[in-house]
Amino acid sequence: MVYHDAAMTHVLQPVSASEDCRVPGPLRTHIDLIEAIGQPLVIIDRSGVIVYWNRAAEAAFGWRREEMIGQSIVSLSDRPGWRRRLSRALNTVVQHGRWSGELIAERRDGVDASVLVSASLWRIDPEGVEFIVGIATDISRQKRIEARLRRHAAVQRQHAIDLRQRLQQQLTDVRLANHMLSKEITERISAEQKLRFQATLLAAVSQAVIATNLSSEIIYWSQSAERIFGWSEPEMIGCHVFDLVAESQDDALIAEMRATVAAGRTWEGELTLVRRNGTTFPAFVTVAAIYDDQQQRSGAIGIISDMTDRKRDRQALADANARLQEVNADLRLSRDLLHTIVDNLDDALALIDGNGVIQATNRQFARLFDALPDALPGKPCTEICPAIAPIVSRTLSSGLKSSGRVQMHRVSGETAILDVYSIPLSDADEAQRAVLRLVDVTERLQLEAIVRQNERLAMSSRLAAIVAHEINTPLQSIQNYLYLLRSHGSEQSAEFLDLVSDEICRVSGLLRRLLDLHRPGDGSIELIDCNAVIERVLLLLGGALAGNGIHVERSLATQLPRVSGQRDALTQVMLNLVLNAVDAMPYGGVLHITTRSANETLDRSPIPCVQIIVEDTGPGITPDLQERIFDPFFTTKPHGSGLGLTVSRQIVEQHGGTLRVQSAPGRGATFIITLPMAADADADGAFQEQENAADGGGRLIGGV
Ligand code: ADP
Repeated sequence: MVYHDAAMTHVLQPVSASEDCRVPGPLRTHIDLIEAIGQPLVIIDRSGVIVYWNRAAEAAFGWRREEMIGQSIVSLSDRPGWRRRLSRALNTVVQHGRWSGELIAERRDGVDASVLVSASLWRIDPEGVEFIVGIATDISRQKRIEARLRRHAAVQRQHAIDLRQRLQQQLTDVRLANHMLSKEITERISAEQKLRFQATLLAAVSQAVIATNLSSEIIYWSQSAERIFGWSEPEMIGCHVFDLVAESQDDALIAEMRATVAAGRTWEGELTLVRRNGTTFPAFVTVAAIYDDQQQRSGAIGIISDMTDRKRDRQALADANARLQEVNADLRLSRDLLHTIVDNLDDALALIDGNGVIQATNRQFARLFDALPDALPGKPCTEICPAIAPIVSRTLSSGLKSSGRVQMHRVSGETAILDVYSIPLSDADEAQRAVLRLVDVTERLQLEAIVRQNERLAMSSRLAAIVAHEINTPLQSIQNYLYLLRSHGSEQSAEFLDLVSDEICRVSGLLRRLLDLHRPGDGSIELIDCNAVIERVLLLLGGALAGNGIHVERSLATQLPRVSGQRDALTQVMLNLVLNAVDAMPYGGVLHITTRSANETLDRSPIPCVQIIVEDTGPGITPDLQERIFDPFFTTKPHGSGLGLTVSRQIVEQHGGTLRVQSAPGRGATFIITLPMAADADADGAFQEQENAADGGGRLIGGV
């Protein structure tokens, strides 16, 4: 509670006797105390008349003491409710002795004065007079502040309410805005993604993409356009699109394009365009109109493909096609040529499928089987040529070459001897087929037989000369002995006759050996001891060898395995070789003959063989002649036939063997015969056809 300084001054000044004339007697003794309180103090009697009004009350309400003493306390305010509240307070004091509470009095200047009043009943004994003493505390300022605070609080409350409402509204707005924003963001993101995707697409396509407005000014220039034309986007935006057309381009085509697009249709065609570096290039152009939101034509979009590479590729393709045509023509020619060659080959050819059915043949094949060329395909081998079918089926089952010699009776009744070669043929799909080659060797074999016969005759005449020479010697001896017999009497006759008889025995022995050796064979196959053949040849030619001063050395293997073959044919070979050695050593030398068993590779793998090696110490054979000496009619001798070695090699090969020569000039010549050892299974002398013959020569077969 704040007291006015002036009020305090009043309080400190005591009431004078004149001034407190109405103050009841008992009070007067307490005046100093009452004034010292410093708070407004009013004393009323039971009828409510003010009997004391201290200075603080003067200061608080503005009424002076002399104005208020004697006045009813009721008259202090005429505000509504004052009387009622005042009488209630006074009654409470009377009944209960005290009351405290707030009252709103009225100051002299008409302003309400809120006071907190504490009133108590004061009885003055013994007189029994009662007064009510009220002490007030001015709380007007406090009340004003409270009222102001209340108003302020109300305003604040209202503000808070308004604020909350505004906040709610704003929150709703924000939420709405947020929703709209997120929707917009989503749409924008998807639009951006779409745009980015379109941009990526446009960047990825190899064609240039160019968009223009209605004035034909470029508004979009893709990365590919930059790549194709060489100008960058900033350089081209706003430029006139027709500046890209080469001057050489036909204007009519451009006009047609503009008209087509203006009519809302798509135009496609080839134009010549120009690059930044000034070069022109052929382009395939597609142009279409573009429209705005209102479906109004707003420009055009063009897609441009650089045709340079494609044109070059097209040209390359055309060139390749032309080349292919040429190759095809060549191939056709080659095929026709091949057909012609195959059809005109002396050999009969047929293609056999995996089931042994003939697929195709050449003319010679059909001729061999006395059939029309188209009649054989589709027929099984077993039906057309039963003797050949096993050789073909070996190839089809093993995938290896197979060969043999067969005898065939032709429709005409003739007998043909065929060398059969079955060669495997694998397709891309691995199906096994075979090419069948038939060589008709009938004529050749007949010729060979004639040649052999001739050679035999030639050799016979040589032998005859040798034998004549050998017979001449004993005959001369006989003549000499007969002359001596005639001139020397009978005592020596018996001795001379014995000598004559010896010489005649020599002659007859020689003739017997000659007959023995040269008795024509029956051509049958037998097991032959090569050592025995050699011995018989050496026995026959022993005189000639000795007469030429040729010393014979033998290294003949004991237990030499036998070979299968024709005895007289092998004897002929040995005769040839020994006679050639005799011819090679006219002034003497050494003839060394060796026999041995060996493992030799005659076909593919080493097999047990018998080898006969005929070695002389003659002049030898130069390397360039070593193969030629086997050619028919090659001879270096004045009266030679040049057939001896040809026939010898043929005979050896027909026995499945080989005949080779090794020689160095001046070091003699060595002829090596290699013959397959007779197999036990073949001990009966039969020759079987063998797989995979290494060369075209025929082999001896049973019955040939
Ligand atoms: P011909 O004996 O009738 O000449 P061949 O075919 O037997 O026929 O021999 C061919 C040729 O081989 C002979 O002319 C000779 O030049 C040569 N020739 C054969 N054997 C020998 C040999 N042992 N030494 C040197 N040359 C030989």
